[in-house]
Amino acid sequence: MKLQYGTYVQPGERPKLKAIDTDPPKSVSEEFAKAETTAFHAEIEKLQELLYAAASHGVLIVLQGMDTSGKDGTIRKLSTCLNVQSCQVASFKKPSEIESGHDFLWRIHQHSPAKGHVSIFNRSQYEDVLVVRVHDLVPKKVWKKRYDRINELESLLFSEANTLQVKFYLHISKKEQEERLIAREQEKDKEWKLSANDWKERELWNDYAEAFEDAFEECSKAHSPWVIIPADKKWYRDLCVSEALVKLLEPYREEWRENLVHRGKAEMAELAKLHQLHAEGPSSSKSKKS
Ligand code: AMP
Ligand code: MG
Repeated sequence: MKLQYGTYVQPGERPKLKAIDTDPPKSVSEEFAKAETTAFHAEIEKLQELLYAAASHGVLIVLQGMDTSGKDGTIRKLSTCLNVQSCQVASFKKPSEIESGHDFLWRIHQHSPAKGHVSIFNRSQYEDVLVVRVHDLVPKKVWKKRYDRINELESLLFSEANTLQVKFYLHISKKEQEERLIAREQEKDKEWKLSANDWKERELWNDYAEAFEDAFEECSKAHSPWVIIPADKKWYRDLCVSEALVKLLEPYREEWRENLVHRGKAEMAELAKLHQLHAEGPSSSKSKKS
């Protein structure tokens, strides 16, 4: 996947988050970004229709990032171009008692997309090598093995269910997070989003950054890449996300179209047969059978 805007993490690469800008480059204006995003959204709409009709591939979009990085906002923006009939969102919180009684991927796998469908994960399997690691919820020897398990699941989804995947890290600066947390306290209609815990988690910023960098290095694969999205400006974040989605789906456009043309022709041939039988009348269809 060749990207003009976000940072595609090459398999095996270990990007340093500190070295990647959270702000848009000077060369991209808000006005330009919004126009580009609108154009990408129009493409996503067409591609999703083909994906659904061809029903040969699924799409999995994973959203991760520090608190307030814009996971919810990204989903809201994507909902303006995705047809909800074939799109599901799954949010992963602290595991329930039932979830904790299973392996960590049990709750994840069941939300993977069926062919023709799009699944968006608001947090994901990666929480089990992020929050779990940072808070020592399981011993290191347990979470260390989970990168392999995650890679196996993502390979399985790709090879068995033709699931096209992309994992977005919404990259905000610590300063931007502070501003967003303060804004939540000050704006009446954002109070519901307040979580005292977010301030506590903020203290662990560097630990989370390190855990994310390990996840990038261990789990960015050609069939399931990590893409780092500068997310301090929502309009640039939306541009980067929409470009990456077009790049993920675009290579399949012709295959899906051909599949549909082929199916269309087969249906037309069936229809022509029916018309002919109809024209020949009921006796001819009986005599043909015998
Ligand atoms: P939010 O996304 O703001 O609704 O918060 C969900 C919370 O659930 C976050 O604090 C996550 O870190 C936490 N969470 C998600 N998955 C896990 C997990 N596997 N283990 C522990 N905490 C988790
Ligand atoms: Mg939260």
